[in-house]
Amino acid sequence: MHSYYGKVAMPKAELHLHLEGSIQAETLLAIDPALSAAEIQANLKCRTFEEFLRGYIWITGKLQTPAHYALATRHLLERLAAENVTYAEITLSAGVVLWKQQDLAAVYEAVWKESQRSRVRTYWILDAVRHFGAEHGMDVARFAVTRREHGVIAYGIGGDEARGPAEWFRDVFAFARDGGLHLVCHAGETCGPESIWAALAIGAERIGHGIAAARDPALLQHLRESDVPLEVSITSNVATGVVASLEQHPVRQLYDAGVPIVLNTDDPSFFNTTLTREYELAERTFGLPVDRLAANSFRYAFAAPARD
Ligand SMILES: [Zn+2]
Repeated sequence: MHSYYGKVAMPKAELHLHLEGSIQAETLLAIDPALSAAEIQANLKCRTFEEFLRGYIWITGKLQTPAHYALATRHLLERLAAENVTYAEITLSAGVVLWKQQDLAAVYEAVWKESQRSRVRTYWILDAVRHFGAEHGMDVARFAVTRREHGVIAYGIGGDEARGPAEWFRDVFAFARDGGLHLVCHAGETCGPESIWAALAIGAERIGHGIAAARDPALLQHLRESDVPLEVSITSNVATGVVASLEQHPVRQLYDAGVPIVLNTDDPSFFNTTLTREYELAERTFGLPVDRLAANSFRYAFAAPARD
């Protein structure tokens, strides 16, 4: 067993972390001093997946300039450095930037520059909103491949997996892969195992959440044998209600089935968590070996970093 502070000190990588979902009151008040604490709290609460999506849209509406995105990045990286996250692949909702009709090139430039100033070795995952459709997804992919030499390491899709099936993105994923990017896909969070199979079929190399795999023995075997990790975010799944309670989270079952697991925070501001806290939960509630999970976080990082 490690103490809480032992887990803070342990070098960790964060692979599934949304910039917009990591914004705290400190950043929001700097951007908009007229905001009240009550308004921030009301929008950051999360009891259902729908409530989370509403809050996420509210927060992205506050990010109106590249400088706002840069400030959010700086504050996030300060917090990650403080808990010894030494490597991060941060997801920028590039699709939402386009949807807001903002200048994606300027926003990306701002966050990338800011991340280069941090001692946390940082790469970016640009993701599209899957229920906006394949054409939207291709707009994000076209931009993402142009920044491959400038910090973008992967392309992904997030949003509502029921209203935006992975099959729509077959050509988009192929385009991003041919452009030199890795591929990630949220799947099996709010939908069943079939959504994970569909993500694998279009080439996803890591699955965001993927907890529905616990219901499909053939899929567990496939993930184990093909060494495809699940980016598990325990607190997120409880907060959005996709699992009924903490005790019912299938992380232990997934681990025992030999599926590679990486722990993440997903949207720490909404879920009131940190990566250290996720490791604490994994050990205390599920008896998982945190040294092995921390090693996995580096092993499944796309840039194969050193641990210091
Ligand atoms: Zn996510």
